[in-house]
Amino acid sequence: MVNHLHYADDILVFGEASISNANSLQIALSSFAKYSGLVLNNAKCQFIFSHNTPLANEICAQLGFSQTENTILYLGIPISTKKLKASHFQPLLSKLFTLLAGWKVKFLSFAGRVQFLKFTIVNTIAYWIRGAVIPKGVGRQIDKLCSKFLFHGTHSGKKLHLIAWNKTCLPKCFGGLGLPSLDSLSFAFGCSFLWRFYTTSSLVGDWFRHKFSSPWKPLKPKTSNFWKRIVSIALKIKDKLNFHVISENCTLSMWWDPWCQGNTVLDAAQSICLTGVVSDFISNGFWSLPSQLDQSVCTRITATPIFAHPHSQISWAGSFKPSFKDYYMGFYSELNLVPWFKFVWHAHYALKYASYAWMALLDGLKTVDVLAKRNIYLPPECSLCRIEDESTAHCFFQCEFSFSVISTLLPSLNSFLLRPNLHQIFQYFDGVETLKGFEKNFCYFVICCTLYHLWRERNGRRFGELETSGQDYLKKIIYAIKAKTGNWKQVDRIKDAFPNCFLGY
Ligand SMILES: [Zn+2]
Repeated sequence: MVNHLHYADDILVFGEASISNANSLQIALSSFAKYSGLVLNNAKCQFIFSHNTPLANEICAQLGFSQTENTILYLGIPISTKKLKASHFQPLLSKLFTLLAGWKVKFLSFAGRVQFLKFTIVNTIAYWIRGAVIPKGVGRQIDKLCSKFLFHGTHSGKKLHLIAWNKTCLPKCFGGLGLPSLDSLSFAFGCSFLWRFYTTSSLVGDWFRHKFSSPWKPLKPKTSNFWKRIVSIALKIKDKLNFHVISENCTLSMWWDPWCQGNTVLDAAQSICLTGVVSDFISNGFWSLPSQLDQSVCTRITATPIFAHPHSQISWAGSFKPSFKDYYMGFYSELNLVPWFKFVWHAHYALKYASYAWMALLDGLKTVDVLAKRNIYLPPECSLCRIEDESTAHCFFQCEFSFSVISTLLPSLNSFLLRPNLHQIFQYFDGVETLKGFEKNFCYFVICCTLYHLWRERNGRRFGELETSGQDYLKKIIYAIKAKTGNWKQVDRIKDAFPNCFLGY
């Protein structure tokens, strides 16, 4: 069999290394040349053979192409019969390096850098993950580059990281910033491959089915890294997938796939082997099993219904159209939601403010107490009130200055006997039963927005010796609230309920 992949000016032709295949290829290429006038440049054509192919030299001589042991590039991704080395990923690292060092990104804010990573960088990485198994060492280098860029705006130098990269790369509901990790992307692409393995008919799918039968079939020694990864992912998602026997073209492996009420036939019968696909054992919509089959196995199989018109022979957690996001979230199915997630990442969050609240909640802002834990000492006095010592809990919002700002905006906070910290303020509004969902979200938004501006004020005072005069910081916050809520549907009702947040300074 000979087949090909064609993109722009590259053609890959696949086939068994036999003389008859070489003949067919030669005939195809010469008749193409005859009709199109496009003649092949032999110097630019190469063969890649698998290990110890006996006819390699003969085939090369017949077509006049050379043989290469090296990798070739297809659509920018290296292809090789051997395991790719870290050096093959140098183009990816260089590309990321260039993107992260560009002059435009130098001026991005923290929120801008989050977006830049999420879209530009992740897309570049995802393209490679789809095409190759990225070695662990390369993955670590990529993580380091991205982490430095996010927290410091530069990709070089040794810097202090307050929030671990693996925490940053979690979905928001599990306490992260929603940046996908390399492992989660690789997992999601694996799930997407498995979905297509069972639902679409393609040349490469047929080849995989023919070679491996099922990802639940035990691995042979010397299996490719790619397939090993697919098998490990298949084991992880077994509970998410449901298999349905369909009356026509059921390509599930009769012996290896867990279609028999969530299990494989193997669990029921250890001694026999039914090769082939489930369709081979269905005739006119009914089970047609070999007569020598054990009665208990027969009973088990025939108890599995055959569907005449299902959507597909598999479903993912009940869905016949799972999305990439479902796969991605599947990677984290063992994690618990963080309780503060809805305070930061509610329906109306603004990334600029929410990301600082996120940092504050994870001790990621460089306050005196956080740095002291890492043996870095700053003058302890709070730059906002100039009375007490600074800590994250003090800044938000136990500090007299901070609390006066937030309680001016949201006066109901004056009911606190002791000054609350950030968690307590969030929980307070969460617990107010008279507030509607959008009003609570507005309060969370005001808290995050105030936190952001107080932190800027703190930095201005501490490092730049700039102090916003009079009530100007309050003006800034109200200006930001007005700007952001202008297009909210319920803005008028919010204005009535929280007039202090909209005062016309
Ligand atoms: Zn203070």
